[in-house]
Amino acid sequence: DRQRLRGLAQVQASTPDGKQMELSANISSVKELEIALAYGAHGVGLFRTEFLYMDRYRFPSEAEQFVIYSQVAEKLDGKPLIIRTLDIGGDKHLDYFNLPDETNPFLGYRAIRISLDRKDLFKTQLRAILRASNHGNVKVMYPLISSVEEVRAAKEVLEEAKLELEAEGLPFNRSIESGIMIELPAAALIADVLAEEVDFFSIGTNDLVQFTLAVDRMNDQISHLYEPFHPAVLRAIRMTVEAAKQRGIHVGVCGEMAGDIRALPIWLGLDVDELSMSAGSILQVKERLLRTRQQASRVLTEQLHKCSSSADIHARLDEFSDQID
Ligand code: PEP
Ligand code: MG
Repeated sequence: DRQRLRGLAQVQASTPDGKQMELSANISSVKELEIALAYGAHGVGLFRTEFLYMDRYRFPSEAEQFVIYSQVAEKLDGKPLIIRTLDIGGDKHLDYFNLPDETNPFLGYRAIRISLDRKDLFKTQLRAILRASNHGNVKVMYPLISSVEEVRAAKEVLEEAKLELEAEGLPFNRSIESGIMIELPAAALIADVLAEEVDFFSIGTNDLVQFTLAVDRMNDQISHLYEPFHPAVLRAIRMTVEAAKQRGIHVGVCGEMAGDIRALPIWLGLDVDELSMSAGSILQVKERLLRTRQQASRVLTEQLHKCSSSADIHARLDEFSDQID
């Protein structure tokens, strides 16, 4: 069976009725990139850069970051690479960076909030990403966006970084695409407004589920309440995809749900462009994609949006999947 899946690495990822889906990888190191490429990933839909910042004693310099980003970009050889800016705070800490003790760290000083507060760190990272954009198909993505002001502020720092590099005569892709994670209910609710500001969305279902349901994704005691197939989550996802479609921007999914074959008909039904997942799930999702019709998925997805409970949603998804098997 593994052998059969391996054979799918170079097979085109499309449904029997012709919907093509970009199956990309989430990576956090060059080593994970090798695995992603072996599994035939379309590209990297999420490069979690925080791991570059961990296990060290100081922030990585622009040069250090540039080496890694450009190496990943070159290995991808023209395939898209979405580099997410630093997403620390919450559960992710750096030994050398004193984050405040917070009562609610997941609601606290983290991700884009730190970047916009510490523009020195942010600009260093953006300069490294921009310089890497001269070595491949690089895009930049901001995590934990909750408002249009944050997006504009981030884009402003990106512009400053571009001006600096230009003045220094360092090459980069002037028209680098920038996008945002949609992982907060606030972002999903104003997705139509945010879509005006960026080139792409990537739905971070891990945080979106956590924040929509107010269920800590790391707390075992309430893990039974962590329900990706909750009607509220599906509504937030639908609003986001529809806003992206309305505006004609690229929309992907990069949380754990992207690699969950149970959710595949939902992505097909909504017509998302990309699913980015841990490399180990790509072939399994592709195998299912090859056997799932988009048209049937559209009909199912319409029904799912009328479901009043997760139990109801699970039942319909199971029924649909039984028909495929
Ligand atoms: C997410 O929140 O879904 C996501 C992909 O980001 P992370 O898991 O790194 O928070
Ligand atoms: Mg997240």
